[in-house]
Amino acid sequence: MTIVSVRQISKRYSVLTFDDEISVIVLFGDFHTFVCDTHLGPESMEDVKKFLSEEPSTREVIIFNSHSDWDHVWGNCAFKGVTIVGHNSCRKRLFKRGNFDLKRNYKKTRGAVILTPPNLTFETKLCFEDDDVEFIHAPGHTIDSSICLDRRENILYVGDLVEDPIPYLDYDRLDIYLNTLERILAFQAKIVVSAHSGIVDTDLIKNNIRYVQSVQKCTTIDSSSLGELEEVHRLNINNLVMLRFEKIVRARLQGRFDFDAFWSTVSEPDKITPDALEKRMKDFLEQVG
Ligand SMILES: [Zn+2]
Repeated sequence: MTIVSVRQISKRYSVLTFDDEISVIVLFGDFHTFVCDTHLGPESMEDVKKFLSEEPSTREVIIFNSHSDWDHVWGNCAFKGVTIVGHNSCRKRLFKRGNFDLKRNYKKTRGAVILTPPNLTFETKLCFEDDDVEFIHAPGHTIDSSICLDRRENILYVGDLVEDPIPYLDYDRLDIYLNTLERILAFQAKIVVSAHSGIVDTDLIKNNIRYVQSVQKCTTIDSSSLGELEEVHRLNINNLVMLRFEKIVRARLQGRFDFDAFWSTVSEPDKITPDALEKRMKDFLEQVG
């Protein structure tokens, strides 16, 4: 059993947390049972299925992917023939980078992962009206990030959009991220649940806003003052550099652009300094001509 805690936060809503502190949500609706995110593979989902089987009110299962990062979708394949909900860019992004992420993080899989993208996609939002459950596109951490609102209890699951102490940045539109974080605050949800940080409070969301603002204003934050956050911050700045160059290289190479080759140019993006990365990318650009 790799689920180390089950926290029931309302009559129908439970937070299941694995041994690596990543959580998935189980919400027993009147007509469907929703599972938000699927952790690292089918073995993890065996534990979730066991949890579901112990609950007499389990109905047709609906999976929701908060975004397409590997630690949220690898368990999708444990649910054959099941409806998997995600933003349309979640499906696209999984096709675009799923294999690359699987290769790079293969050691972290739990069970035999078969990449399985969402099969029910939406543009702005999707409502299961009779269950009082909504899935809403909320880009920021990634372009495909979405949230799950339990309208009946006013509980919001935000995936990786809010994280303690700072979020990871994997989308270059920081203005859109800030807008999403303000929207999350505006829900005035009774409870907000994050995939990596459990139940989070308003102060943390505001701190995340301040961090994104500081990155937006000045990408040369003195990271040595961040202490243990330095590595995450450096990775964030480097991701923004890579995303900027990806656009340039993609425009230049068009049909010849190779996603895996481009993102493989830097094997340890959390170790290299942003200046060294900038130089590496300029060299790469010269090579592609
Ligand atoms: Zn994550």
